[in-house]
Order: sequence, then structure tokens, then C-alpha cells
Amino acid sequence: MREKRRGPSLAVFPGSFDPITNGHLDIVDRGLAVFDRVRMAILVNTEKKPLFSVEERVAIIREVYRGKPRVEVDTFSGLLVDYARAVGAAVIIRGLRAISDFEYEFQMALMNRRLDPRIETVFMMPAESYSYVSSRLVKEVFQLGGRVSDLVPPVVERRLREKYGTPIRRGRRASGRR
Ligand code: ADP
Repeated sequence: MREKRRGPSLAVFPGSFDPITNGHLDIVDRGLAVFDRVRMAILVNTEKKPLFSVEERVAIIREVYRGKPRVEVDTFSGLLVDYARAVGAAVIIRGLRAISDFEYEFQMALMNRRLDPRIETVFMMPAESYSYVSSRLVKEVFQLGGRVSDLVPPVVERRLREKYGTPIRRGRRASGRR
């Protein structure tokens, strides 16, 4: 079979990224090992009430990947396959953490295939240490005073502090320095 000549490969990694976590970063790294460019595409979803605005999420991702031109960030609304086709991506990347992700992801991948069979969805598994990390959990843990520094890049921790203020750590005396 003759190989098709292709230009540099581009994969779209869609999501809410509210905020980006080390689990997402892990998937981007894996994507870069396979594709020339990975474009993180933030879904503008008017139904969800996000913590960080779309503009804030774009700024955070730009900061995380400053100086790394192979990682791009963009926003989209409407059908993902339409967006992927418009930017010339033949691949959608999704991260698979656990069985719980599987059913929804499977449905989405097959629906997207039906909408445009030329666009392939590729699933990547994060390192086990990130398999329980989600943006939702990070926000909850931070708000309750738990440590999230191993779960998110430093810029996200800083932004969380700006949003929520410094969380109150339970079980510590307010006056005592440790
Ligand atoms: P969505 O609202 O589309 O689920 P998310 O920002 O939560 O957006 O996730 C975007 C993608 O990243 C999804 O494919 C999700 O499964 C994946 N993902 C989220 N957290 C992790 C993680 N800890 N490890 C691997 N993949 C993840």
C-alpha cells in the first residue's frame, strides 16, 4: 500500500480545563510523543458555570506552555468534529482515567465518528498517579485546605489562591507558625 504524504500532524485535545491539572499535562506529553502539535481546545459551554473564565483558562494554559510552540491553545463552540476539520486536525485526543470515564467517552467517540468518519479519536492513559485527579476534585480539595501542589502546575495553585483566598487549614492554630 502506498503511504499517503502528510504534513505535520495536529491533534486536538478538547476539554473544559477548569483548571488544567497535571493529569491533563500528562496527556499532552503523551500526545506530543505521537503528534507534531497538540492543540488544547477549550469548549465554550454556556450551560456550565466554570470557576475560571474561558479567557483565564486560555491565559493559564499559555503560561504553562510558554516557550513550547508544539502546544497550542484555542477555544471552540459547536461540534468538535467541525472544529477539528476546520483547523486541519485528523485526530482528537481524550484521556481515559478509569472505567468510569469509559462509557461516556465511548459514546462520544462513536458519535463523533458518525458525524465525521475521517476524524479518529485516540485515547491515552495517564500515569497511575494521575488517574484519580480531576479538575473538580482539585477545586474541592483546595477549598477545604488540602494540598494540591502535586496535582496542578504552580500557576494554577497561584490562581486558585487568587480566586478563593488562602484556604483555612483545619486542625491548625490560627496564631501558631509551624
Ligand atoms: P471534559 O469536561 O471534556 O471532561 P476535562 O477538562 O475534565 O473536560 O477533561 C478533558 C480531557 O482530559 C478528557 O478527555 C478527560 O478524560 C481528560 N482528563 C481529565 N483529567 C485527567 C487525568 N487526571 N488524567 C488523564 N486524563 C484526564
